This record gives sequence, structure tokens and C-alpha cells, in this order.
Amino acid sequence: EKFVYRFGKFSTDGNREMKHLLGGKGANLAEMSTIGIPVPPGFTISTEACKKTIDNRMEWPENLIDQVREGVKHIETEMGLKLGNEEDPLLISVRSGAAVSMPGMMDTILNLGINDEVVEAIIRKTGNERFAYDSYRRFIDMFGDVVMGVTHDHFEEAIEKLKKEVGVKEDLELTASHLRELTDRYKAIYRKITGHMFPDDPMEQLRFAINAVFNSWNSARAIKYRQISNIHGLIGTAVNVQAMVFGNMGEKSGTGVCFTRNPATGESKLYGEFLLNAQGEDVVAGIRTPNPIAELEERNPEIYKELVSYTGSLESHYKNMQDIEFTIQDGNLFILQTRNGKRTGAAAVKIAVDLVEEKILSKDEAIRDLVDPEHIEQLLHPQFKDGEQAENTILGSGLPASPGAAVGKVVFDSKKAEEAGKDNEPVILVRIETSPEDVGGMSSAEGILTSRGGMTSHAAVVARGWGKPCVAGCSDIVINYKTRSFTNGEVTVKEGDWISLNGNTGKVILGKKELSKPEFSEEYQTFMDWVTDIELMKVRTNAETPEDAQVARSYGAKGIGLARTEHMFFKPGRVNFMRKMIIAESKEERVAALSNLLPFQKQDFAEIFEAMEGLPVTIRLLDPPLHEFLPQEKEEIGKVAGELGVTPDKLLQKVNQLKEFNPMLGHRGCRLGITYPEITEMQTRAIIEAAIELVEQGKEVFPEIMIPLVGSVEEFVNQREVVDRVAQEILADAGVELDYKVGTMIEIPRAAILADQIAEKADFFSFGTNDLTQLTYGFSRDDAAKFLPDYIERGILKQDPFQVLDEEGVGQFVQAGTRLGRMVNSTLKVGICGEHGGDPSSVHFAYNTGLDYVSCSPFRVPVAHLASAQAVL
Ligand code: ADP
Ligand code: MG
Ligand code: MG
Repeated sequence: EKFVYRFGKFSTDGNREMKHLLGGKGANLAEMSTIGIPVPPGFTISTEACKKTIDNRMEWPENLIDQVREGVKHIETEMGLKLGNEEDPLLISVRSGAAVSMPGMMDTILNLGINDEVVEAIIRKTGNERFAYDSYRRFIDMFGDVVMGVTHDHFEEAIEKLKKEVGVKEDLELTASHLRELTDRYKAIYRKITGHMFPDDPMEQLRFAINAVFNSWNSARAIKYRQISNIHGLIGTAVNVQAMVFGNMGEKSGTGVCFTRNPATGESKLYGEFLLNAQGEDVVAGIRTPNPIAELEERNPEIYKELVSYTGSLESHYKNMQDIEFTIQDGNLFILQTRNGKRTGAAAVKIAVDLVEEKILSKDEAIRDLVDPEHIEQLLHPQFKDGEQAENTILGSGLPASPGAAVGKVVFDSKKAEEAGKDNEPVILVRIETSPEDVGGMSSAEGILTSRGGMTSHAAVVARGWGKPCVAGCSDIVINYKTRSFTNGEVTVKEGDWISLNGNTGKVILGKKELSKPEFSEEYQTFMDWVTDIELMKVRTNAETPEDAQVARSYGAKGIGLARTEHMFFKPGRVNFMRKMIIAESKEERVAALSNLLPFQKQDFAEIFEAMEGLPVTIRLLDPPLHEFLPQEKEEIGKVAGELGVTPDKLLQKVNQLKEFNPMLGHRGCRLGITYPEITEMQTRAIIEAAIELVEQGKEVFPEIMIPLVGSVEEFVNQREVVDRVAQEILADAGVELDYKVGTMIEIPRAAILADQIAEKADFFSFGTNDLTQLTYGFSRDDAAKFLPDYIERGILKQDPFQVLDEEGVGQFVQAGTRLGRMVNSTLKVGICGEHGGDPSSVHFAYNTGLDYVSCSPFRVPVAHLASAQAVL
């Protein structure tokens, strides 16, 4: 079995399509090698080898060792160097890389292959003793940290101590003999903590390093990252073994990272950071402050030009903005990694539109590949109402690392942030810098503030990927973990104090600023026009106020898929009429109370019809159990009883009477309308009269009356008769023609599998997937929070089925209901409403099932549009 895939100038086995097997890094190293980008040669050990090794208690599959030896030979041939050789030694890096990028989650070892003899050879060859020992001590540090768990801070401590002893401030000021001394001290640390000598056989070093990378796949932080980012179904990490190129050879060497376009705004300009005389992680690690890439143009225009040409061709080749690592060795440029760059929503949309205009890709490709539904969602996030002025104090400013506005209480560690997240408490995570250990807290926080690090620091990259506001490298503040506070020299902010972050400008603001609605760029409008042009399945909205309807319409909603009438009854001035209706002792009393509600309902409907003029509006008749309208606390009962003009005892009696063991399975939905037809009558009257009002003004209305919680055709027929009778009567009286429809929600499994019977009588179906999920799984919507997190943690469920439709189970009811319904009624309109209507994967499912529309909350409408368009492509 083949586990090892070469890449290099002369022979390359892999390509960009092989991410699953070679990981993203490996697949792209292979791809770059074949399109003429200067990549140091190497080989990739497949993810399958990783899986087999882990499954087999860290024993390598047969043959792997031989294939690795062959791979090393391949590098040696291309480089004309030899691993461990005492004249022309080869040094290599060992790099992890899974199919999905997990920034900094797994481990890398540089300069592998050095030992006491090899270091002498390097000195002889390069005449650069400082470089040789710098590489050696870095190798011991990384090997110790990654392979043996001798954490980096042990070595950091030693270097700080040495710097003090010799009286220098910067690492760069250490001389060759200092670094030689440091190498000895590092080895002593290694020996003291591990109880072993530092291994000097390069093949042994390599075997250890490969195993460490395999193991890092299942490190706690990697597992957590996959959980938070919802990464499933990967078998392991690949391992890339690659010839080293050295950015630490002097002032004509260096290393850097860059994006082909600005990942925060999308601006079309090379964007990134570099350091001269530095290696690998120095740029991201925040040890030295890197220089903006524009300075490379001044310092070394030729290299800069070369870089621009490679990054440009990578962008056109991948048809996507690229995130690129490069190293300059003594004036020669090498590319070490490329991948599609993580970006903010605003950047995603701008880059998509720009690349289409630059003719690098088609509109379809832009919609399919360059913008995720999550990006669109990000754009709908709030901004600060009044910019940065007002009474609030600006504490300082840092880099606008990830846009958006965030408001929360300061916490200084990730654990606290996670705890606050569990209590839904908004917090801002404030750290000197973040590390992969912090991802849990970063994900819970509203925003992230660091005092150190650049635009490509861990905090910045991860925050952008998740669409979380982040201000990075705010050097105006000094953080003190011990006193749990930070200060800008004037103001001291303690843990628990409120601050606000503006990720668009990098400003850190004292206090709790007000948020307001987002604004949209021109590119956004262009992009969404393209999207709505190609979508086939419509997007409607769930709305019961004219304001919401208006917002949704401005986002392109093609009607209302669910207006919940009960929400209208909760408004002040109305709820007591509702209560009167509920406590009525006779039909007459009930009818009288209902007639007081009629004008309100009618007006609500008229306003909604108006907002949605020309588009269908689905109105669901009263659905929740009646006790929800009554007060439950003793004091409240007393007060309300007074308002209703009954004794508290009587009201209490009614409250008790309405108590149910299982309200969700109790007297609700069409069961209410069946026992109290006068409710259905009143609501029908309100709908039809409102519609007539608009028709008489010459406006187009398409009411769709929806009967909830139907389980049998008899229930539906019962209610439809009431609706039709009242509607016909009113229409006849008014002499108006109106195209109204009567349909039902399919949310009880029984209705889904007997949908053919119901469809004979109904004009439309709308899958109420919230209740359908509840009833299919038997999970109470209101109690599931007690156990669902455990289910997800243990992998019993991949996602919360109330957020992402369970296609496998619940989905079968949706498919069956649609198929059976259409079988007997070919004009049956079918849609989905509920939380799932706005979830991208559920939208795909709805499209594949052949539904006519999905309906979701107004702010998810653009997200659903994109998902619906992507489903077509
Ligand atoms: P990560 O996935 O955390 O970015 P990488 O494997 O990309 O880890 O490597 C970490 C750093 O080491 C990067 O800056 C990379 O450019 C550098 N690096 C990796 N391999 C080599 C190499 N062969 N020569 C020089 N630098 C390297
Ligand atoms: Mg990298
Ligand atoms: Mg329901």
C-alpha cells in the first residue's frame, strides 16, 4: 500500500484534489511543485498512515518505514544533500496538515537532522556559526516541546536568563558562542526533564517526529477545535517532510506570511508581514514584531516583485484568495505553503465580486466557492450605533483584525470565558496573545482583544475564521494577569468591567456601547443580485409584524411562510381580551371576548398584507396551549384577576384547570379550533376582512390560512369547513373575489405518512420541522438542553437536530410527506418553516427534496438565499 507521496521539481505524485489523503498542505505543496512555484522538495505521509498507526497502538503499518526511507532519498537526490551526512548534511522539517486547515492546532518541527557532527558541517559549509547554532537550538526546543512534552517555556526561560547574563535585549543580539552555550543548556534541560540524552541519529529523530505529528491529531486542543468548528469525518493528519530552507541565514534571508488580498476588507493588495533573519514561526509567535509586507518592497524590491508574481499566479490558479507562507534564503525566494485564506464576510463578498470582474472566475463559481452562508450571516451582525464618539472613552487602538462590534465584560482567561458562555453572559476575552489552548474561550467570547501580535497572529486568524470581532496587538494597553486588570496608563479596567471592541477600526472602548443595524456595501448588493438570479427554490420569512416583514422583504424574501398569530395576542392591551376569552364560561362570553380581539387581528393582518403586497402570506391559526396566556405566579394572578374583573380564586381555578402534564402534546394546535370553533371563525374573519380591505384599495393579496398540528385528515377537514364557511360568507357579502388557500402544517409524523389523504383536501403543506423533530425523536424541545450537549460531546449526535435538520430520520418524513402529497395533488405547494429554514445544510436538503420554498427569520433570509443558490450549482 502506498503511504508516501513525493513532491519536488522532478517528481511529484500528488495534486490539489488529494486533500483527503494528503491533507491541505500536502496536496497544495504537490500542486505548487507541478506548476512551477519554487517549493523545497519533500514527501507527504498520507492521512491513512496516520489512522492505521493510531488504530494500531502507534505501530507503523508494514512498509511505512521503507517508504519513508525512499522519500528521504528523493529529497536527498533533489537537493544533492544527505541526511546526517558530515559533509553535505540535509536538514528537514516535519509538518502536520489535515484536510481542513486548523491553524496552529498541530505540530511542526524545523531543522531536523542536526547533531553535534552535523552542526560542524554546517559551519564549515556556510561559514556561519551563528546560523548553525541558532538552527540547532531551535531544533532542540521544537523537538523537546512537540515530541517529548518539554514545553517551550522551559527553553524560553533559558534564553531569557542567558540574555540577562550577557546583557542583551533581543535574541538577535546573541552571538554564535552565546548560541552554542544556549544549545548546551537546552540539551541539559532536555536531559533533566526527559531522563534521556537528546537523540542524535537523524532517522530516529525523524521517526519520533512523525509519531508526534500523528499523535497531535488526537491532542485535546485539536479535538476541541474540530468540535467547535464542526469538522467531522476526517481520518487523521498527513505528515509533510520537506527540505529546510533557511530564513535565519542573515539579513538577506527572512520569512513571512501574506494574503493575496486583505482578509478583513477584501482590498486587492498584497497583505502580510515578514521578518528578516528569522525562521518559521517567529512571524506568528509574536516574539519579534514583524514588519508590514509593504516594507519588503523598499528593502528588497526584486524579491518583492518575485513574490508578487508567484502570489498572483497562485491566486489565478486556485481562483481564490490565497494565504501564503514564504521564506527567503540568502536572496532566494521559496514558497512553503498556500491555501485558501480565511476571511471576513465583507472581504469574502468583495473578493468574489472583484474576481468575477477581473475575469478570474465566473459568477457561478463565485457563488459556489467564494462565499459561505456564514459569511453572509456575519454581514448581518450589528455595528456600533454612533461610531466611536460619544461619552465613551477610547482606551487604545490595535489592529482591526476581525471586523464587527462586540460588547462584553472583560475576562482574562479562556476558562472564565467558557463558563460565562455557558451562562450566556457576554464577555470579551483579553489576552496578551492567544494560543491554540484558548480556542474554547475564544469561541464563547463576543470578541477578542490581544495586546501583542499582528494580523496573522493566532487570535486574528482564528477570529476571522469564525467571524468574531477581534482587535489584535493593542500595545496601548498593558495586561496584568496577576491583578486581573489592564491599563492604558490612565484608566485601569478590571475583570468584569464592560468594554466594547470595534473590529473594523481596531478601537477599544470603555463601557457598553449601543449596537445598531448593519450597512451593506455595493458589492454586497451586486452579489446578492447574482444569487437571487439563479436560485430556484424561493425563500420566505417567518414574521408577524409589518416591521419584520419589511426587513425580510428588503432582504429579498418572497413572502411570509409563517406568521404566528399568537404573538399578536401578547401585545399589551390585547392579552386581557385573550384571557377573557380563555376564562369564559360559555360560548357567548367567549364570542364576546373574541370580538374584542377581532379589530386588532384584522389590523395586524392588513399591515402585514400591505408590507408583503403581491406576495403570499401564510398565517397559522392559534397554536400554543392556552395556559401560556395566563399568569402563573400568585401575585400576578391577583393583579390580572383585578383587571379582568373576576376573583383571584376563580382565575386560580382556571389556571389549575388548564395545567397539563405535557402541554406540548396537550390541548393545542387544531385541537383548540376543534373544541372552540369560534376561535377559528374569528381568525378567519380577521384575515379575510383584512384582505378584502386591501383588494378594495386595488392591492394584490394572497392569504394562505394554515391549520396547525394536524395528525389526521378528519381534523383538517373539520377546520377547513369552518374556514371556508366563514370566508365564503364574508366574500359573498362583500362581493369580492379573493384567491385564498387553506393548508396545513405537517409536523406530526402521522400526518407525514398519511399525507396523501390530507393533500386531497389541502392546498399547501408547510413542514413545521421544530415540532416534527420533537415528535420524531421524542425529544422535548423545552427540555432537550439538559442532555443534548452530552449527546453531542459523546458523538451520539453530530449536531443539535433542532438547529440542523436530521436528514436521516426527520428528513424521511419530509420526503414521504412531499412525495405522497404531490402524488394526489400535483399543484400542492410545499415549504418548510421553523429554525431549519435558515440553516444552510437544511436548505440544501429542502432543495433536493423538491420543496417550493423555505421560510426563516428575517435576518437569515440572505443566508438562505445563498444556500438555495448554492444548492442549484
Ligand atoms: P502551521 O500549519 O502551524 O503553519 P507549518 O507546517 O506551516 O505549520 O510550519 C510552521 C512554520 O515553519 C511556517 O512558518 C513554515 O513556513 C515554516 N516551515 C515549515 N517547513 C519549512 C521548511 N522546510 N523550511 C523553512 N521553513 C519551514
Ligand atoms: Mg503553515
Ligand atoms: Mg408546531
